[in-house]
Amino acid sequence: MIIDIHSHMINQNFDINTFKHNFTTKMFFLRLQTKNYEQYYAKMSCQIEESKVDKAVICALEGALTCSNNEQSAKICEENKNFLFGANLNPYDDDIENKFKKVIDDNAVLIKILPSFQNIDLTDKRCYKFYELLKEYNIPLLVHTGIEHTIKGGNQEFNNPLRVENALKTGVKVICAHLGAKLNFWEKDYFELWCNLARKYENLYGDLSAMIWFYRKDYLKKLLKDKELCQKLLFGSDYPCYPYINLKKDANIFDDWYDMFKNLGFDESIFLRAQTILRLNKSA
Ligand SMILES: [Zn+2]
Repeated sequence: MIIDIHSHMINQNFDINTFKHNFTTKMFFLRLQTKNYEQYYAKMSCQIEESKVDKAVICALEGALTCSNNEQSAKICEENKNFLFGANLNPYDDDIENKFKKVIDDNAVLIKILPSFQNIDLTDKRCYKFYELLKEYNIPLLVHTGIEHTIKGGNQEFNNPLRVENALKTGVKVICAHLGAKLNFWEKDYFELWCNLARKYENLYGDLSAMIWFYRKDYLKKLLKDKELCQKLLFGSDYPCYPYINLKKDANIFDDWYDMFKNLGFDESIFLRAQTILRLNKSA
């Protein structure tokens, strides 16, 4: 089963007319030719249904105007079996145990954290209970790493991949989104830190979401030559982010990402690995 481990649904209350979006968000909406939640949902559902990609994890984010929250994401995944629920939690939450159980009951396949926006320092002691729960339920932690461009605010240094080491030492399976790679040449780059961690810890992975060839080709070239690191990669899109390989407005974004990685020479394992990591083998 081919799984996109990192995609986004917009918030049901999103209104393009009142939202002051940045250039990237504008590009995404133009590309999808959608103006509101209903159109976006219809487009994304149709694209995953028609795509070579079997399922996509919808990563929720609480408190963001653009992204669907836990409640909305869980409901969508319940209704549409092409989508899997990626929940968002705050590790500092006093009620973390109950919140954790709630998302597990709602069939969460992973927990996603955006440290800068959520203002979470993953080295903070308050995260330990959260790590124990991840370990106990054997649920992977997906962490945004590297500079965040779409949902701004907070301390970008919190997105440093080195901060996941405590979770790794607890035995949690951690997936670093975007491999800590920078997007613009003037930014701080965390890619080498991710590579070192991936070599050091068996339970550390990385997702290839938003790793657009045009911007990030040096990273992809390096990965293709490194068999050990290739074993740590998981396919992801960061939908509605698209890979710029096909400029047709209505093109299937899931297929464009799949084709891009395939054509670059990545083998089938990057597409299939998530099934084991997310423990979906039984329902396959
Ligand atoms: Zn994302």
